[in-house]
Amino acid sequence: MNPDRLRSLAIVGGGTAGWMAAASLAHFLRPLGLSIRLIESDAIGTVGVGEATIPPILNFIRSLGINEDEIIRASRATFKLGIEFRDWTRLGHSYLHPFGATGFDMEGVPFYSTWLKAHRQGSVEALDDYSLMAQAIRQGRFMRPIAARTSPLHGITYALHFDATLFARYLRAYAEARGVIRSEGRVERVTLKPENGFIDSLTLASGETVSADFFIDCSGFRGLLIEEALHTGYEDWTNWLPCDRAIAVQSESAGPPAPHTLATAREAGWQWRIPLQHRTGNGYVYCSGFSDDEAAHARLMAGLDGKASAEPRPLRFTTGRRRQSWNRNCLSLGLASGFLEPLESTSLHLVHRGLAVFLQLLPDRHCAAANTARYNRIFASEYERIRDFLLLHYTQTERDDSDFWRYCRALPKPDSLSERIELFRAYGRIQPEDNELFPVQSWQYVMAGQGIMPAQTDPMADRLDPGHVSQVLDELRTVIGQCAGAMPLHGDFLKHNKLLYA
Ligand SMILES: Cc1cc2nc3c(=O)[nH]c(=O)nc-3n(C[C@H](O)[C@H](O)[C@H](O)COP(=O)(O)OP(=O)(O)OC[C@H]3O[C@@H](n4cnc5c(N)ncnc54)[C@H](O)[C@@H]3O)c2cc1C
Repeated sequence: MNPDRLRSLAIVGGGTAGWMAAASLAHFLRPLGLSIRLIESDAIGTVGVGEATIPPILNFIRSLGINEDEIIRASRATFKLGIEFRDWTRLGHSYLHPFGATGFDMEGVPFYSTWLKAHRQGSVEALDDYSLMAQAIRQGRFMRPIAARTSPLHGITYALHFDATLFARYLRAYAEARGVIRSEGRVERVTLKPENGFIDSLTLASGETVSADFFIDCSGFRGLLIEEALHTGYEDWTNWLPCDRAIAVQSESAGPPAPHTLATAREAGWQWRIPLQHRTGNGYVYCSGFSDDEAAHARLMAGLDGKASAEPRPLRFTTGRRRQSWNRNCLSLGLASGFLEPLESTSLHLVHRGLAVFLQLLPDRHCAAANTARYNRIFASEYERIRDFLLLHYTQTERDDSDFWRYCRALPKPDSLSERIELFRAYGRIQPEDNELFPVQSWQYVMAGQGIMPAQTDPMADRLDPGHVSQVLDELRTVIGQCAGAMPLHGDFLKHNKLLYA
C-alpha cells in the first residue's frame, strides 16, 4: 500500500453538502482505514434550502446502499417528474421540462427532428404529448418504472423533492454509524504549511487543533478554507445571471402534492413552489438591481398557495464559481465551490457529482498537480454548461413588461450558448458536449419552450416516409396517454406504498 495514502480527512460544514460528503466518503473510504471528522457550528447554522433535485440524486442514494423508501419517509419527500415554467416566455404562457426520454429515434433520425417535420406538416400534436413524464405531470400522477423493458412505463424517470434539513439529518446518522466523528464548534483559524501552502490544521474556538491530510470545505458561501485561507478566487457570473437574492418561506400544503416543481417568472426574478409531504417550499429569487427587499417579500407572500407556516428567510448570493474547486489539499463542495440559482435544481447534483469525480481521482497526501487540474477542468466545464442552460431561460424571453425582463433580453451570452442557440435555430439540432448533465431533449424542451423555432427541419428527417411517421406518432401518443392515465395519482402512490412519514 502507498505509504503516502490519505489517512485522515476533515470536513468543515454540516449543511447538506457536508453530510453528503461525510456519508459518501465514509461509505467508500472507511474500508481503506481513513478517519473522517466533520466540524460544524450550530451557532452559524446552515442555508437549509435545497429541496428540489434531479434524477441523478437517486444514483447517489443507491450508491450508498440507502433504502430509497426509508429516506423518502425520513425527509418527507415527494416525487418529481420535471419542472413547469410559467410566464417565462410571455405572460400566460407555460411549458414543461420533463425528465427522461421523449419518443425514440427512427432509423437514426432524432425524435425531435421527426416530430418537428411532422408538426410543421400539421399532422401531429405538441412535443410533450410524446413524453410520459409530461403527461403524468399534467394529470398529477406518478409511479415508479416497471421492469418490462418493452413498456413506456419502464422509462419513468424521476427525482425527489425533500426537506433538505431532514435529508442532511438522515445522512448524518448514516455517516456517524460508519465512524464519522462530528465536532460542534467554530473553526477560528486555518494554519498552512509554510513549505507548500497546503492546509496543516484548523483551530476551533475551544482551542482544539484538528490536523488532517486532506480537507473538504463545505462551509457555505464564505468558503472558509478554499477562499479565506487559500485565496483561490471566484469567477463572478452576475453579468450573465444577475439575480443575487432570494427569500424562502414554507407554507401549508394547499391540496395534493404535484409531481413537479413550479417555477413562475415574476417582475424581477422568479418564484419556486416545491410540494413536500407536510408543507410546500416557496422562494422568490430576484435581482436587487430591480427590486428592493420589501417589494420582493410582498411579491413572494402574495404568490403563496397556502398560509405561510414559518418566518421568511432572506438569502444573498453571488452567482459564479470558485476558480479552482480543488486547491492543494482542499476540495470545496456545495456553496463553498460556487452557486448557480436553483432554476434547474442543480446544486445538490454538483455536490454528489463532485464526490464521484473526487473518488475517481482520489489523491495521496501529495495531491499531484495533474490530478487536481483534471478535476478542476471537469468542474469548470460542468458549471459552464449549467450556466448556459440557466441563461437560456432568461435571454430568450419575449417579456418586456418590466425593467428586469427588458434587461434580461439584452443580456450578453457566452459564445458557447450563442452557438448552441444558432444551431438549434437553424435545424433544431443540439450537439452535446462530453459529460454534459442535461441531455439533448432537455435543451430542446427549453429552447422550444422559450419560443425559439428552428428555421428548417433536419434534412435527415426527409429520409422517413411521412405517412409512416404520422402513424407511428399517432400510436405513440395514444400509448403514452393510456400509460399516463393508468398511473396512480401522486398522493395515492405515496400513501399506498407506505411512503408517508408516520
Ligand atoms: C435560495 C436557494 C435555493 C436553493 N434551492 C436549491 C434546490 O432547490 N435544489 C438544490 O439542489 N439546491 C438548492 N440550493 C443550494 C443548496 O441549498 C445548497 O447546495 C446546499 O444546501 C448545500 O449547502 P452547503 O452545505 O454548501 O452550505 P450551508 O448549508 O451554508 O452549510 C454551511 C456549514 O458550514 C458551517 N460553517 C461555516 N463556517 C464555519 C466555521 N467557521 N466553523 C465551523 N463550521 C462552519 C455551518 O455551520 C454549516 O454547517 C439552493 C440555494 C439557495 C441559496
